Amino acid sequence: MSVYLDYNASTPINKIVLQVMVEAYSLYYGNSSSLHKEGFEAFRALENARSKIGKFLNRSAFSVIFTSGATESNNLAIMGLARYGLQHNKRHIIASAIEHKSVKTPLKILEQQGFIVDYINPETNGSISVSKILNLLRPDTLLVSLMHINNETGVIQPTQEIGKKLKKTNTFFHVDAAQSCGKLIDEVKTMEYDLLSFTAHKLYGPQGIGALVIGDGNLELNPIMFGGDQEMGYRPGTVPVSLAVGFAKACEILESEHENNYKIYLENQKLMLNCLNEASVEYNVNGDFNLIYPTTLNISLKGIDAQKFMENCKEFSFSVGSACNCNVKSGSYVLLEMGLPAERLNSAIRLSWGNQLLEKEKLYKFAKVIKELQSKV
Ligand code: PLP
Repeated sequence: MSVYLDYNASTPINKIVLQVMVEAYSLYYGNSSSLHKEGFEAFRALENARSKIGKFLNRSAFSVIFTSGATESNNLAIMGLARYGLQHNKRHIIASAIEHKSVKTPLKILEQQGFIVDYINPETNGSISVSKILNLLRPDTLLVSLMHINNETGVIQPTQEIGKKLKKTNTFFHVDAAQSCGKLIDEVKTMEYDLLSFTAHKLYGPQGIGALVIGDGNLELNPIMFGGDQEMGYRPGTVPVSLAVGFAKACEILESEHENNYKIYLENQKLMLNCLNEASVEYNVNGDFNLIYPTTLNISLKGIDAQKFMENCKEFSFSVGSACNCNVKSGSYVLLEMGLPAERLNSAIRLSWGNQLLEKEKLYKFAKVIKELQSKV
């Protein structure tokens, strides 16, 4: 069996979550919009899941819009604000240059429609400067979009601070929290934002469901798909109740186990670094180690072609860049925007783990495989 080191791409589903979902599939087969017994039961289960997720985020149930995942949430947040921007002559947007493609691509589309987007490059430590964002604010700035934890480097971004500053302005703040919900639990609960995206499959829940969460402020969000009036009119289509039930359970479990999980994250991080060091692997950590959430380690391996290494390495599953860029051979745009030289980009791998303790023996074997490759170049 291979060693799974790609939790940032997707986490294994929690067994209890799976069990709860299997039960939900047979109990709540009705359509939650139908006006009969089965429909009401499905509706109650859905609303129960919604309020659990609201509680997990310290928000009301009504602030939670179910979507198919963070990609859709990001699209809804950005494209859904566009009409307001056009109507109110607010066509300026600020985003980091290291956002996930599900933020960057809708922004590109808005640029084609006449919006002006300022992309902020990270510092070499992987972090986005608060003052750079604030200095770019204009009276017509519609939106600032910034991720909470970068999916490739694991660097925690200053969304807390930006949220506070933007609260006093007429600019909306969207946070892509796909990598932080369930990890920075208290920070997410207290963060100020207008819109927050997250997804179940990064927190031991099922693939295929996520949420866009509406913050405290007044917001004119328009749907980007059209059909029924589910999800308070923001997102049409039948909501998959069993996925929502699983999503809520995953949040609940993660919150109750957080303290213990955090120790495991640190233990795994320490173990990985010890093994790399013991095997004398030559590597550089990408992103400031002090800013990295301890479930990610993005490292450049001296002399190694990361893409080839990943493709040939059958026993260990990890990624080069993010899973969404797996067809891109030119190296990670996140590391590129950090200003790293070509050899650091081409030799970079992303290792990510979660709430299962890794085995030292296996990690040491991984480190030895790298060292052996390095000794041949
Ligand atoms: N945003 C970030 C930061 C991510 O890491 C991901 C997934 O990799 C997404 C958005 C997209 O999430 P989903 O797979 O739920 O669409």
